[in-house]
Amino acid sequence: MASDKSAPPTTTDAGIPVPSDEHSLTVGPDGPIVLHDHYLLEQMANFNRERIPERQPHAKGSGAFGYFEVTEDVSKYTKAKAFQPGAKTDVVTRFSTVAGERGSPDTWRDPRGFSVKMYTEDGNFDMVGNNTPVFFIRDPLKFQHFIRSQKRRADNGLRDHDMQWDFWTLSPESAHQVTILMGDRGIPRTWRHMNGYSSHTYMLINAAGEKFWVKFHWKTDQGIEFFTQAEADKMAGEDGDYHRRDLFNAIHDGDHPSWTLRWQIMPYEEAKSYRFNPFDLTKVWPHADYPPMDVGKLVLDRNPTDFHTEIEQAAFEPNNMVQGIGLSPDKMLLARGFSYADAHRARLGVNYKQIPVNKPQCPVHSYSKDGAARTENVCDPVYAPNSYGGPVARDPGGEAGLWHADGDMVRKAYTLREDDDDFSQPRALVREVMDEAARSRLVNNIAGHLSDGVSEPILKRAFDYWRAIDKETGDKVEKAVRDKIGGESKSPGLASARSISMKPAGQ
Ligand code: NDP
Repeated sequence: MASDKSAPPTTTDAGIPVPSDEHSLTVGPDGPIVLHDHYLLEQMANFNRERIPERQPHAKGSGAFGYFEVTEDVSKYTKAKAFQPGAKTDVVTRFSTVAGERGSPDTWRDPRGFSVKMYTEDGNFDMVGNNTPVFFIRDPLKFQHFIRSQKRRADNGLRDHDMQWDFWTLSPESAHQVTILMGDRGIPRTWRHMNGYSSHTYMLINAAGEKFWVKFHWKTDQGIEFFTQAEADKMAGEDGDYHRRDLFNAIHDGDHPSWTLRWQIMPYEEAKSYRFNPFDLTKVWPHADYPPMDVGKLVLDRNPTDFHTEIEQAAFEPNNMVQGIGLSPDKMLLARGFSYADAHRARLGVNYKQIPVNKPQCPVHSYSKDGAARTENVCDPVYAPNSYGGPVARDPGGEAGLWHADGDMVRKAYTLREDDDDFSQPRALVREVMDEAARSRLVNNIAGHLSDGVSEPILKRAFDYWRAIDKETGDKVEKAVRDKIGGESKSPGLASARSISMKPAGQ
């Protein structure tokens, strides 16, 4: 309040008290505004620059702070300090949808991002996962195309099921992820009621230098709950920020959500002869082959106090691996090591790791230097090697995070093994994991999606795609779609758009 004497004085960004919160400086009360009203100019200029580019993809989301505590002894697999018995580490997490923009509804059908940054004493360890254990593609060259097909059309700026199914049905490796997406887990009831998965395979290295392959599973302690399509559509109209609000309110009310971290461990040598490629991101490791073991607990107990600085500017990147944990030959993971850091540089600036939410809680002795918005002093001397006491790299030993690779340079898919195919795992999900009611919801969800603007040739391909996963499901989907649209599809799909976009712009 203007008269509140206990409130701090308003200042400019330079800390200079300002004379008014309400009146700009004018020539007489009715006269023109003068250019040297520095405070007015600063406010207008700042306002124009409030929005930073949104993430592409995963733009809509939110997050919270908490801790990860190791409850078991898994030290025989890794020397990472954050995974030693009893270790407790501060974390920030972020949950998100994938394709929607920053203001889009939380309850659209989409995978959910599930990112965790641990501020370990050996530097930041980031796990940038999803609420599904697999992904739509296995080669990073397809990623950009995949995301574009899920976002908006070039001509009318609308999302379009025709282009989504066009891409999916031309990319059979998507079948597993699309099955999960169209099933109950495609719309979690809240972020608290979903699991997180590393999806990728990572490496663990123990103190003796022995290596293991690992998949991370963050199992919700709240139990899995989902929205039906009808409930989600209704919620999108009632409260587009439902998931963001739910997490914030739960933590505010002291109802702190938690997840149990479980690991599937594969001995290093076994990866060479396992019956399918264990680094293929479209596949899970069956629980029967690699039973998940408990590791620890993630608890979220603190809300952000400034959404922009703590959540919008939070930057997670899969290449933030600490000693004892490493990458794997998963092509998608290796490409993400570049693309995430590059996205942060583009969105937040080259010094994004100095923004408090991204800053490690351990000392940083990096030779990175200068750049926009740098706030930390550079190492001096600014070069290595030097004779003046500057930082010196220390090899952790044990060939940490390295593996053998040999061969001619080629552009080829992974070498096929005996059980490498695109449909067995989604078929197991439909036939062996889902019950009759879940299968029926699956068919309804797919049929609803396919009945909305998908052209006839792509519809036919989609029916075959589902028959390849499960004959009965494919037949039921076809019948449900034909009943809904009354025969063949009249939608032109992208056919009209393509003829326009082939012409030079402006014609
Ligand atoms: P299991 O029977 O041991 O595991 C099945 C798992 O499926 C469950 O533990 C649960 O994962 C998950 N699940 C249950 N309902 C759904 C659903 N509607 N949508 C997606 N996932 C669901 O068998 P397998 O390990 O042999 O896997 C069989 C199939 O289960 C796989 O092909 C895959 O589609 C799916 N699955 C397997 C996972 C794995 O890591 N092995 C993980 C998730 C799914 P959770 O325990 O993680 O909640």
